[in-house]
Amino acid sequence: MKKIFLLLILLFSPVFANSDLQDVGIAKYAVLEALADNTPLREKPDENAKRISHLFKDSVLFADKQNDKYYRIDLNNNNYAWINKKLVEVQAIIPEKRFENIEKISFKENKKKYQFNIETNSISAYEFKEKNNNLDFTLFDNRYDPTEIKVDKINKKFTLPKAIENDFKIQYENDKPIFGYDISKDEKGYLIEIKKAPLINAKKPLKHRIVVVDPGHGGCEKGACAFNLEEKKLNLQISKKLKKELKRKGAKVYLTRTKDKQVDLYKRVEFAKEKQADLLLSIHQNSLPNPKYVDKKHGVGVYYYNDFSYPLANKIQDNLLIATNFKDDKVNHASFVLTRPTAQPSVLIECGYIIRKEEALKLADKKFQKIIAKAIAKGCEEYLREAFLIMPL
Ligand SMILES: [Zn+2]
Repeated sequence: MKKIFLLLILLFSPVFANSDLQDVGIAKYAVLEALADNTPLREKPDENAKRISHLFKDSVLFADKQNDKYYRIDLNNNNYAWINKKLVEVQAIIPEKRFENIEKISFKENKKKYQFNIETNSISAYEFKEKNNNLDFTLFDNRYDPTEIKVDKINKKFTLPKAIENDFKIQYENDKPIFGYDISKDEKGYLIEIKKAPLINAKKPLKHRIVVVDPGHGGCEKGACAFNLEEKKLNLQISKKLKKELKRKGAKVYLTRTKDKQVDLYKRVEFAKEKQADLLLSIHQNSLPNPKYVDKKHGVGVYYYNDFSYPLANKIQDNLLIATNFKDDKVNHASFVLTRPTAQPSVLIECGYIIRKEEALKLADKKFQKIIAKAIAKGCEEYLREAFLIMPL
């Protein structure tokens, strides 16, 4: 009896799994437009699923299926993504996908970065995919004819499609770790920027590096509060000490706020971009939504989102553990506005738990703050040295 039951489950489970997926209408595709900038395109129909990319406002997408909350986006070659229905508007129902033609591509490079200008009339879904040191950029639903469009002086680290395909792809192969990449849009199309590996001074790895330090919260956003301490204040105090320490090691440092004021999260990210940051460090003190578990979670933790930010997070965590003697709250993968940027390695540092008395008292102590600042700066130095320094043979 049991066996038959199991067999029935096995037979019908694919039907159950897909039962909530429906067609989008009488024709095959729904044409969708993204309602705002930073619209997340996800790997699965789930708010916590990995973000494939952040779409620009008015991006056009083609959905072939839907459930109650999400559209499934057809990204060609049996590749799918998902978008929350609240974030898009249906423009039309059509039988065939429309493809745009790329009109022009130009390539430039300077000391710090490589740049591609891609001229096209569409605003489409795109994706950057990291594979160790290599990076693939895909602009979906855009066709490029290599016999028609010539790209001059392209660096040999890059490969463009050899034939017309439904998506346009730039493949970047490098022998050094990724140091940052980004996409922006203007009236003509897209600007793709890929940062070059920095030239590192062995004794002073932070020399000439631009670091943006972000003191978390501010103004009416106090952050976590405990024992008469406010997180926003500790964040600013530690950030100022960190600025001093980084400057001493040769870096050029900017703070996203120098006073007790509220700053929008995306403005902080924009600020790092404007300053052409090499590193983005967001400073916080931790707490728990439910302080009942205060005995279980404590110590220092560093958060990252993109793979190439992991080595920086790891070095900072190593140094903070040694310097503070706090418990190891680990290097964690987490999707925050300040960990998601790709323009530079970006990490969020939780120096300790403000809701634990013994940690809070230390975090508020000026001498201890200096110890924290020194450890973070040392972590940055070690990351740059190990990732980018070519050792003489
Ligand atoms: Zn915080």
